[in-house]
Amino acid sequence: MPESAARTFHRLGTTEVPTDTRRLFGTAVVLGGSIAGLLAARVLADHAERVVVVERDEITGAPAPRPGVPQSTQVHTLLPGGRRQLDRWFDGFSREAVAAGAVQSGPDDLRVHYNGRLKVSTPDVDFLSSSRPFLEALVRRRTTSLPNVVAVRGRALGVELADGRVTGVRHETPEGETVRLDADFVVDAMGRSSRLGHWLAAAGWQQPGTRRMNIDVNYTTARFQRKESRPEVTTALAFWALDRLPADVAPAACSAIEDDQWMIMFGGFGDDAPGRTPEEFRRICRALPGTFADAVEGEMIGEIQPYKQADSRRRDYHLLDRFPARLVSVGDAVASFNPIYGQGMSSAALHASCLSEHLRSSPDLDAPARRFFALQRVVVDAAWQTSATPDLALPHVGGPYPRGYHLAKRLTDHVVDATVTDVEVSRRFNAVTEMRAHPSTLVTPGVVLRTLRATLRDRRDAVPS
Ligand SMILES: Cc1cc2nc3c(=O)[nH]c(=O)nc-3n(C[C@H](O)[C@H](O)[C@H](O)COP(=O)(O)OP(=O)(O)OC[C@H]3O[C@@H](n4cnc5c(N)ncnc54)[C@H](O)[C@@H]3O)c2cc1C
Repeated sequence: MPESAARTFHRLGTTEVPTDTRRLFGTAVVLGGSIAGLLAARVLADHAERVVVVERDEITGAPAPRPGVPQSTQVHTLLPGGRRQLDRWFDGFSREAVAAGAVQSGPDDLRVHYNGRLKVSTPDVDFLSSSRPFLEALVRRRTTSLPNVVAVRGRALGVELADGRVTGVRHETPEGETVRLDADFVVDAMGRSSRLGHWLAAAGWQQPGTRRMNIDVNYTTARFQRKESRPEVTTALAFWALDRLPADVAPAACSAIEDDQWMIMFGGFGDDAPGRTPEEFRRICRALPGTFADAVEGEMIGEIQPYKQADSRRRDYHLLDRFPARLVSVGDAVASFNPIYGQGMSSAALHASCLSEHLRSSPDLDAPARRFFALQRVVVDAAWQTSATPDLALPHVGGPYPRGYHLAKRLTDHVVDATVTDVEVSRRFNAVTEMRAHPSTLVTPGVVLRTLRATLRDRRDAVPS
């Protein structure tokens, strides 16, 4: 009997450090040195004599936004599912991050508001907050300090293919010279604009189909100086059902991060781009729960940073009949979602787990990495289900709606409403949205029963006595 997606997802989320690794090849090359590429390089270091990470941007020592990751000025929440993987691949990662200034939030430090109501606290809350450049710099330092990993600067121009497999890559150095690198294994981690599909098509291979959902999400992020080093609440989130968004506020997140700063973001959809001036930013925060209002009392640091993402998209590598051997794709290059769900970095971390499982399964390296893509599909499907499906409720998203969508949406709305008051439903729901558990683990008689009770309780409480 085939293994269920929930079981596979659970196994990929393990925190056990593999001990059954062995050398499989000489040189592995990773194209793109951001979160997904660095994590893939960490895994490859267990299986290759040498791992070369080719990154187009100049990387300086201090954490800073860079052109290749334009979204890095925005709030980046590391979901617990991804954080576990960072601790798995880099011993003591969270401890090191906290020592360097990242802020840890447990059940007493986090406040989540849904449709204007404060949600119950669950005992297993464990968030780590920092800016994206801070987190990426830490991952880079840990990866490139491995003895067999090197990072080089270059813009990847293409992959070399022969006899049904990848044999090397070409990249351009900052001086404009084209360099060829022999490779026994290549990972595409070039982000959502990856050209891998085009390169394959140009070489006579199949190009993966791309599924897109227009979400038109507008982000606005600003940083403020924090008055207290350890405030009572370190993370506050305010969400609304996407089809019940009030007119004068916005879905918002406020996190204490390194350097005694607050990072605050708003999301808006379509023509709605809230908080683009300091006055408007502060005004919106003052209409939100107290943590937001307190945070904007401090000095604003730097400028307000806007960002727009037009679509969620996924490339279906797992559906290709023909694909070169010794080649895989990870991270946003395969799937990138509506950022308000904060899934991107954790997905990338779970793709690294897929790569590790694939390489530890004694794969036939001269055949396409189908097992890898099948494992990765489980992660992508799960993330897509928890983000793209709710996004179908956005007024400007016109489908296509899967069969049974409207009934499933009504049930899901009840479950989400129940998370406001029911600890157990909330705990299970968080495990899914934090990428610690597969979405199917929410559909149990226990959750349905508790949801029903919470719905009835809410209705009873809403009736004026
Ligand atoms: C507004 C916004 C907010 C977000 N918030 C969150 C969040 O809260 N939590 C979360 O987990 N995720 C969040 N994400 C998603 C997250 O940013 C991505 O999922 C994550 O960065 C993916 O990592 P990646 O390594 O796959 O790609 P990227 O980070 O996009 O990196 C791609 C890398 O490839 C390099 N590259 C590209 N082309 C070439 C080439 N030809 N040669 C060499 N190098 C190349 C680039 O320079 C870059 O370093 C957010 C995204 C957006 C847009």
